Amino acid sequence: MRPEILFPLFATLNSLKGVGPRIALLLEKAAGPHVVDLLWHLPREVIDRRDRPSVADAQPGKIVTLQVHVGKHEAPSDKRRPYRIHCSDVTGPLILTFFRGDKKYLEQILPQGEERLISGRLDLYQGIKQMAHPDHIQPLDKADEIPDIEPVYPLTAGITPKVLSKAIAAALSRAPDLPEWLNAEHRKREGWLSWRDALMQAHMPGSSGDLSPLAKMRQRLAYDELLANQLALTVVRRNAKRQGGQSLKGDGTLREAARKALPFTLTLSQETALSEIFADMESPQRMLRLLQGDVGSGKTVVALMAMLNAVECGGQAALMAPTEILARQHFETIATIVAKLGLKCFVLTGRDKGAVRKEILAAIAEGRAALAIGTHALFQDEVAFRDLKLAVIDEQHRFGVHQRLTLGGKGIRTDMLVMTATPIPRTLTMTAYGDLDSSRLTDKPPGRIPIKTVVIANNRLPDVVDGLRRKLAEGAKVYWVCPLVEESETSDLANAEGRYADLCHSFGETRVSLVHGRMKGKEKDAAMARFIEGPADILVATTVIEVGVNVPAASVMIIEQAERFGLAQLHQLRGRIGRGDAASTCILLRAEHMTETAKERLRTLSETDDGFVIAEKDLELRGAGEILGTKQSGLPEFRLADIALHGDLMRVAHDDARLILETDPDLNGPRGKNLRLLLYLFERDAAIGNLKSG
Ligand code: ADP
Ligand code: MG
Repeated sequence: MRPEILFPLFATLNSLKGVGPRIALLLEKAAGPHVVDLLWHLPREVIDRRDRPSVADAQPGKIVTLQVHVGKHEAPSDKRRPYRIHCSDVTGPLILTFFRGDKKYLEQILPQGEERLISGRLDLYQGIKQMAHPDHIQPLDKADEIPDIEPVYPLTAGITPKVLSKAIAAALSRAPDLPEWLNAEHRKREGWLSWRDALMQAHMPGSSGDLSPLAKMRQRLAYDELLANQLALTVVRRNAKRQGGQSLKGDGTLREAARKALPFTLTLSQETALSEIFADMESPQRMLRLLQGDVGSGKTVVALMAMLNAVECGGQAALMAPTEILARQHFETIATIVAKLGLKCFVLTGRDKGAVRKEILAAIAEGRAALAIGTHALFQDEVAFRDLKLAVIDEQHRFGVHQRLTLGGKGIRTDMLVMTATPIPRTLTMTAYGDLDSSRLTDKPPGRIPIKTVVIANNRLPDVVDGLRRKLAEGAKVYWVCPLVEESETSDLANAEGRYADLCHSFGETRVSLVHGRMKGKEKDAAMARFIEGPADILVATTVIEVGVNVPAASVMIIEQAERFGLAQLHQLRGRIGRGDAASTCILLRAEHMTETAKERLRTLSETDDGFVIAEKDLELRGAGEILGTKQSGLPEFRLADIALHGDLMRVAHDDARLILETDPDLNGPRGKNLRLLLYLFERDAAIGNLKSG
């Protein structure tokens, strides 16, 4: 239960003075539903109002605070024209303008004949100094109301800066003095203020330097957030382990048979990963392991071997993929092998309905299905396993899916293996997975011919099409990836459809197939099948082919407007080719003019094929903010911390969390109690459920 001291911070926004239901709704959109969310809404800029010149000395374009004598009001006859108020000081005239100004209101705040202080941006219009809609207007005895330095908050449509500032000020006045959860030595060393003081200062920047994420008060707040993140992850993970797993050590018969059925021998990293996995499974603790490996590094076989170990022990194993296509593909790979072992493998996705679905569910419940493969449909309530001993989660790009399973899950003693195709930098691994054990597939299966990557300007498209004709004659299959238009599925589609029509025109309709995200399952399968089995040998696609899809005969990939794609995404796409015996080529079509970063991305890609190198470069070029910011990535989003800039803080928080939990495993000591507050403050309530109370 949330401690009382935090109640005021978790009240709804309309409990704040001056915030009605309409404003509350808008604020909620901008920041979040609770008072505490406004605390995290930090200023983005500062306005310095200390410049107080005379009207004559005031510089157009600058923010100034002026003392003026209010003169005649001039209401416009034409509503489209501004309301004008003639003002002056001894050095010269100044006109205040208000569009759609309300006469009554203006006469009240700027009465003719009186002195007023005004602050805002000065303009020069037809040789006369003007100020449109001053930010502040005050009588002389209320000069204090105009701040010397004013924070500017990221805005949201429908809320004026004034309303937002007031709401935030109201929220800040609710911030209690919380007992310190940081180590005193650590705080002293860093020169950090208390939580409340740091918060207040962060909202009252004295200069633009105070807006830097590396400013002391911002660092302190970021550290709090990172520490909460690391504590929560560590607690949850430790508990998942504490719950105890099962000791799984099969007799090896199925695995032996599978090795014989495979048309290749395992690589050294596959073997290493497997011995790590088998050791985990054998230990009585629950396995929670991450298997990182570049596209095509052969994670599926590793997963299969682990699954077979579970089956040898009389249990079942499940593999969950992020998409329908990928689930079906894993199924195809795995089913053919396990059929040779006399095992039954079923696939379950949202698309299986009615009697078919019933039968699959029954097979899983009765244990007839030794292996089950599917999308997240596999982990819904209606699916009951007879004895699920191992769950493999193929996350591809969507990190952290496993957390929901660990937290709320099915089969609490089930061993878990999480596969990801994006090698991610260590700091990012920490934020998403905490301390998860990890195996890395660093070498590629042998015999791979490196992919040749070339960057070609868009205007040479006709040459590319000509080249394609030659490749097709040699029997190559080709992916044609269409430009990604951000946030617009419709234009993605239009692009893909346009290109599809062009290519049909050049090569004939039978040779070209089209697949995109809007297609229904069956349509998509049919389009894919035309490409995989023929007669089509060009597949025009939006980015849906990004995850999954294994077509060994595909040896050419063309990516249009490659500069629009992210580095990791391009790398992932490119991994779809180079899976067969033929030499493969990836053509990146680029715009004539590109930003430096875009150039660097494409250069990196043509120079290296190492996912770990690419991942680091991606972090460097994009910054973690962007990587973390993408909602669908599943990575936790931080309000105050920026992983690209706070990597060092992250590492300290990581060690700090471990040390804390080693000495006070359930946070019941004096510091522990305060750390519980921290967890509540950052809404890691679920983690607290994992602690025993003292
Ligand atoms: P990932 O899932 O890591 O992207 P896959 O598991 O799909 O990669 O493997 C890519 C391809 O490499 C598959 O066609 C697979 O059969 C093949 N493969 C896997 N391991 C080996 C190996 N040790 N030797 C040769 N080929 C392999
Ligand atoms: Mg185990």
